Amino acid sequence: MIIRIAKNSGFCFGVKRAIKIALEAAEENHEINTLGPIIHNPQMVEKLEEKGIKSIDDIKLVRGKPVIIRSHGVEKSILEKLRQNGTEIINATCPYVSKTQQYAAKLSKDGYQVIIMGNQDHPEVIALKSYVEGEAIIVSDEKDLPDKKLSRVGIISQTTRNIKDLQNLVNVLLPRCSEMLVINTICNATMIRQNSTLKLAKESDVMIVIGGKNSSNTKMLAKISENFVETFHIETASELNADWFRNKTKIGITAGASTPDWIIVEVYNKILECKGNIADKVTRIEDIPGFKEENNG
Ligand code: SF4
Repeated sequence: MIIRIAKNSGFCFGVKRAIKIALEAAEENHEINTLGPIIHNPQMVEKLEEKGIKSIDDIKLVRGKPVIIRSHGVEKSILEKLRQNGTEIINATCPYVSKTQQYAAKLSKDGYQVIIMGNQDHPEVIALKSYVEGEAIIVSDEKDLPDKKLSRVGIISQTTRNIKDLQNLVNVLLPRCSEMLVINTICNATMIRQNSTLKLAKESDVMIVIGGKNSSNTKMLAKISENFVETFHIETASELNADWFRNKTKIGITAGASTPDWIIVEVYNKILECKGNIADKVTRIEDIPGFKEENNG
């Protein structure tokens, strides 16, 4: 029996950075707010709350405390309101997300009809849309495209989407427009995680995908994996079921970019337990076979 983890699983550069910024800010401030959860992982958000980092949904609840802008960013108008109110802003927006926001603004300023590939309800996309001058078209995939001819089109993507979906979108749209500018804004961390998950899913009898049920990038890993093998998406080790591993000898694990190491370690150890092996338990993610630390964003 072998249990392996997809390399680069877990926290990405942008999430590590956001948490570091939040923890440093919490050391200097008794109480501090984040607008929406700082990352899409309920267990990590709970841990941060214990340190005085509270997630709020409305700027009316700021009450003079500093505000951390989460890794997905927030709408431009909200940032402006916070500035007008004199609120101290601590910006933990991932630099890749900020870059995508700049592309959104520039494309619309240059006269392109901006098309964003992403989930219209996701905070990153809601924020991204706010940087577009005029109306952005938001599509989940090529099936959502409007059935009309477009002239100058600028395409960007939510950072955690899949490159094949972006390619499909471009293929369908190209014959319908006279000019197309495509910027691949899917971040490197996303692409690395998706590729390593795909590779491991092809080599495994069952896959466990760990991460927030509200995490886009984790859901995408689950979608990629289930095309090849039986896949279970869980948030914590308590959801594991020993039946999933019966007669399975090659077990794969992967985790979204917002999944903390300690949860991944717990899941690995619990799977070992399910297979009757407690001797090989680990205390660090680095000791799980297959793990490789991300060395860039
Ligand atoms: S997934 Fe990519 S864009 Fe999102 S926080 Fe991580 S590094 Fe930044």
